[in-house]
Amino acid sequence: MEFLDITVVVVIGIAVIAWTCWSGIFKRRYREKYTLEGLSEERRKIVHEIPLCRRLPDDLKEKLYGKIAIFLHEKEFDGCDGQEITEEVRVTVAALACLLILNNETDFYPKLRTVVVHPHAYCADHQVLIGGQVVEEEDVVKLGESWGSGSLVLSWTDTLADARRQHGRHNVVLHEFAHQLDQLDGVANGTPTLASKEDYERWEQVMAQEFQKLQRKVKNREYHVIDEYGAENRVEFFAVVTESFFCSPAIVRETHPDMYRELAKYYKLDPQEWEAAEPAHAINTEPAA
Ligand SMILES: [Zn+2]
Repeated sequence: MEFLDITVVVVIGIAVIAWTCWSGIFKRRYREKYTLEGLSEERRKIVHEIPLCRRLPDDLKEKLYGKIAIFLHEKEFDGCDGQEITEEVRVTVAALACLLILNNETDFYPKLRTVVVHPHAYCADHQVLIGGQVVEEEDVVKLGESWGSGSLVLSWTDTLADARRQHGRHNVVLHEFAHQLDQLDGVANGTPTLASKEDYERWEQVMAQEFQKLQRKVKNREYHVIDEYGAENRVEFFAVVTESFFCSPAIVRETHPDMYRELAKYYKLDPQEWEAAEPAHAINTEPAA
């Protein structure tokens, strides 16, 4: 390589490093600014309409407001089929998305650029694969989808119904954003990024066992707390148990203590405490259909 070539490579290298450092500092600064500013009263009122967020202790609620402000600054929303992107749409989705990253140190869904919102459940192409080959394409009704390529899709009717529900075990926003967390390391396999080798080993041991238990119960038509959609595969299992962990924590902790512990350790949250602090509530213990 000639001297001129080496000089060009060095200059480009320095420029890349400088740009990376500058954008990192810039991002940290504006995130600090949005965290300090928090949310307007109008946006807080929208968050307050979500029982899951309303029952947060005050310190976590303030932290959530800051995260929502950053999320709203960084992510785009796109309405489909005539869906209007109102403040209620943006703040409701952002609040539930940020609940998952409230305490764990992951970034703000770095691969996600756009949240696409349909007014209702929608039809999407579903490819049936056998041996890695597409053998059939069919239309499937969906409430949401999570893509690793920068977008996440939601039905607003279902998003709002799930967000407003006091208790239950379904929440399409938590489900799809759990998929985003799972996809962060580039592989959707039902295991998000964990802190240590020991954490991965324990996670695998507990979750594999719980997944098999759910599959067995669904097959034998036995009572099960976790929604049977989680028995499809390990990817759906992680998304489904995330919904249950946040939406019906008491029953999950009681019936699946090891799994609850793993999820509480990953999310660094204990939703059962918030639920227990509520004056009166009814936990949904109905068996799955
Ligand atoms: Zn899913």
